[in-house]
Amino acid sequence: MAVIKGKRPHVLVVPYPAQGHVKPLMKLSRQIARHGIKVTFVNIECIHEKIVAAAKMSGSEEEDDQEDGNIVLTSVPDGRGPDDDQNDTFKLLESLRNTMPGFLTSLIENINSSNSDERVSCVIADVTIGWLLETAQQMRAEPVLFSPPSASALAIIPHIPRLLEEGNLDSIGTIKKDDIIRLSENIPPWRKNELTWSFPADLETQKIFFECSLRIEKALPQAKWLLSNTCYDLEPSACDLIPGLLPVGPLLETNNLKSLSNSCNFHPEDASCLSWLHDKPPGSVVYVSFGSLAVLSQQQLDELALGLELSGRAFLWVVRSDLANGSRAVYPDGFLRVGKLGKIVEWAPQEMVLSHRSIACFLSHCGWNSTLEGLSNGVPFLSWPYFADQHHNQNYICDKWEIGVRIDPEENGIRTRHEIKTKIEMVFSDARFKENAMKMKEICWKSVGEGALLTRILRHLLIISANEHDCGCCL
Ligand code: UDP
Repeated sequence: MAVIKGKRPHVLVVPYPAQGHVKPLMKLSRQIARHGIKVTFVNIECIHEKIVAAAKMSGSEEEDDQEDGNIVLTSVPDGRGPDDDQNDTFKLLESLRNTMPGFLTSLIENINSSNSDERVSCVIADVTIGWLLETAQQMRAEPVLFSPPSASALAIIPHIPRLLEEGNLDSIGTIKKDDIIRLSENIPPWRKNELTWSFPADLETQKIFFECSLRIEKALPQAKWLLSNTCYDLEPSACDLIPGLLPVGPLLETNNLKSLSNSCNFHPEDASCLSWLHDKPPGSVVYVSFGSLAVLSQQQLDELALGLELSGRAFLWVVRSDLANGSRAVYPDGFLRVGKLGKIVEWAPQEMVLSHRSIACFLSHCGWNSTLEGLSNGVPFLSWPYFADQHHNQNYICDKWEIGVRIDPEENGIRTRHEIKTKIEMVFSDARFKENAMKMKEICWKSVGEGALLTRILRHLLIISANEHDCGCCL
């Protein structure tokens, strides 16, 4: 462990309660902890319980390695009562805003009074709950933001007031005038319904997403440092648009998969797919996963199952227990005759899967974590976005980096089995996608080192700030 003289910096890390946020923030925490800095990782209670249960079911144990020894997992209530709908994300957001500052203040007070050498010196808050920076400032901790999505998803946020003023966006964030928004020649433009907050099927939901983006816009100037899970060479123009951005990504899993805090899965991992992959020839398997939130209609699920079967290619498909519109999947008659051709799991060790030599391509919803994981393993994509930043990530994947193709929906929104089969064939038969993907892999791995360097710099800043407050005024 690195020797730290004087007060030991102590970072409180607070993710937004979703899988695609908790995972990268834990990866960041591990990087910070590796430098001997103490990290308290704060989830809301129901997420903490999910992670503990999933880790137990996957057979993981907490290990006393250097990083985990510096990370404490803890939880705070989310403020909801037993009668509140536990599936209502917007109620949750509102409840967090009302109650989390109070719970965190008490947590920090408890930590500070129990060991004055390990006072909380910094709060790293997920940008989605960036309003927590006020609590950080009140508690005399450095206010730091971490942004899980791409730099371009973040870059558009400070432009919202101008876009509203110029009439490009209406009051709930729908593109009005020119039908596209362009921040720079080198960033793919956003077309109608491709903005992070776009949700054309439910404008009430879009309004709430847009309000959330406006809150992020207010929080950004309060951050002393702004960290992003990207790397400069992936999206240089977007990084250049955000003054002071520290691109610490791509944050990837370390090789220590046994530890509870390392995985932070909400679902138990089914590692049986790894031995299944071992038996497949190199570059032969289509990996299919829609991340943690996307859902498919039963009709769409049928078409996908039949399209995979029709392709004749081996496939590994993650079918979460709530993928079919929140319920367990029902497969088309006779589908499970696929036998050796396909394997279905409820949750995969995704980074290990993507790094497996048998994987040929990734049929993905293009969440940013999945995008980075595919990129850093040189895997071509079949893109099938669902919502939020996924449409814009698709534009990077297909138009900017040219490492994949879109699986296009029909007018009724359904992606047919024939479209699925055709696009799978296209990726298998055109070597250009793999070549480009391998170039992107190189860029990512070069940046893993640079991201690590940035966290080392962050360590020094944290040590300085922890000791700056060593004046007695805040004891
Ligand atoms: N993931 C996983 N196993 C699975 C599916 C997903 O470990 O079977 C992980 C994936 O590696 C990624 C995260 O879950 O780190 C999903 O984040 P992403 O941003 O891709 O999508 P979201 O779930 O936020 O839509």
